[in-house]
Amino acid sequence: MSRADLLVRGGVLVDGTGAPGRPADVAVTGGRLAVLPPGAAVEAAEVLDARGRIVAPGFVDVHTHSDGAALLGEADAGRALVRAAVLQGVTTEICGNCGSGLFPALPSQLPAMRAEARVTFGGDTGMFRDFAGFAAAHTAAGRANNVASLVGHGTLRSGVLGPVDRPARPEELREMCALLDLALSQGAAGLSTGLIYTPGSYAGTDEVVALAAVAARHGKPYVTHLRDEMSRVEEALEEAVEISVRSGAALHVSHHKTAGRYAWGRTERTLPRIAALRAAGMDVTCDVYPYTAASTALSAMLPPWANDGGLAALAARLGDPAQRDRMRRAIAEGVPGWENTVGNGGWDRISVACAPRHPQTEGRTIAELAAAASADPLDTAAGLLVAERGEVTIISHSMVEEDVRRVLAAPYAMIGSDGVPKPGGRPHPRWAGTFPRVLGRYARELGLLTLEEAVHKMTGMAAARFGLAGRGVVRDGAHADLVVFDAERVADRATFTDPLLPPEGIEAVVVAGAVVVRDGEETGARPGQVLTT
Ligand SMILES: [Zn+2]
Repeated sequence: MSRADLLVRGGVLVDGTGAPGRPADVAVTGGRLAVLPPGAAVEAAEVLDARGRIVAPGFVDVHTHSDGAALLGEADAGRALVRAAVLQGVTTEICGNCGSGLFPALPSQLPAMRAEARVTFGGDTGMFRDFAGFAAAHTAAGRANNVASLVGHGTLRSGVLGPVDRPARPEELREMCALLDLALSQGAAGLSTGLIYTPGSYAGTDEVVALAAVAARHGKPYVTHLRDEMSRVEEALEEAVEISVRSGAALHVSHHKTAGRYAWGRTERTLPRIAALRAAGMDVTCDVYPYTAASTALSAMLPPWANDGGLAALAARLGDPAQRDRMRRAIAEGVPGWENTVGNGGWDRISVACAPRHPQTEGRTIAELAAAASADPLDTAAGLLVAERGEVTIISHSMVEEDVRRVLAAPYAMIGSDGVPKPGGRPHPRWAGTFPRVLGRYARELGLLTLEEAVHKMTGMAAARFGLAGRGVVRDGAHADLVVFDAERVADRATFTDPLLPPEGIEAVVVAGAVVVRDGEETGARPGQVLTT
């Protein structure tokens, strides 16, 4: 009789490749998996009973903003946030998305970068000189699950140029490329942009091509929050395609959506375009979260020039009635190259998710708050931003269900929560509900995906895209990251009013061979690692 550290016995193995589920036992020895015939004679130190359950690779959340969550310490709010990911079966998070991360920080810009990081990630997480410093901090903090990180273009730009609205000079671009090259050499997973956000939005296409070429040399992807996901989403997709073609980097489109009333239904054009590019041999993929609402910073509702110079400059402009009138006009009339969420929807679709000093505003729309104060919505938003020093997160009810379903069903779309685990307020429920929601609502209830397809999008497809060797598929010798769940019961419970409610049906989670969730509860084990690619 052979021996193992852990045996997951009696389940149906959905192995992450998309292949049909089959009965199998799975053994873990020294952090590595072995797939065994059901009932194989194995003596194990610990046994998980998986009868009537699905055994799958641990889920890979390809799109998070969890860069700082594990660094916030053991305070209750921080713990609840960190716990939400593993309780939904996520064994690897990929952070550093949308152009924003916690490295590399340059000494000359450090105070401004810390202030920005506070707005983006919440709390005082620190900034790090390089990927190695970021990795050391996560390792020291201790993690239940693994994390990998992209290198954010906006963070590179902030470090080298500061938060300014102008093109990078040649020597500045060379410095950004050198910093990116170092981070990718240290094991960061690729380059990300957030071209709707300042300072990323201040960059032209050529700047991003130069950086993506560095990623291409490392064989790592260019991952982008497109310059526009609303009325000009198709042009923005073409810019991303151009960047990929000119740089040679594989293209990954983040949280693909066609949002705002002028773009509803436009996935009927973007998805065939992506499919045609793939058919022509281009390496292009995307991710998606299973909700019709988005979430971002309130300051991103303002035109890019309003944010030029960073938070202090924004606050000064917001205090000036003439500048506010200019912003009102920009939103009403649009600005070339700017997404303009409010102009595409309205303040009645924007609700406050987190305003730490004004919790009474959370859950209410800007339009409601303005009506209650007999004020203009822009003035209400401006007042809140100033009072909160920029730290306001919003939920934007900007998509339609048909578009979300079309993207989820696309055979090259993987799952990313886009979760923003910041302390306080009512964050978007996607951070706690994304994976069970895809499995429960979209696979089991609506039949949009088979169980095997859904799992593949969360595991094998994701690991292949981001170079996570030996993960995402349950096979002999793979890393021992596993989820055991009940396919009949699995469901999200997190809502906009109770956003961190744990899901149903995710019963056990294993990271590096250690059980981190048992019977739906965290065990307290911290086997997670910082993954390099
Ligand atoms: Zn984004």
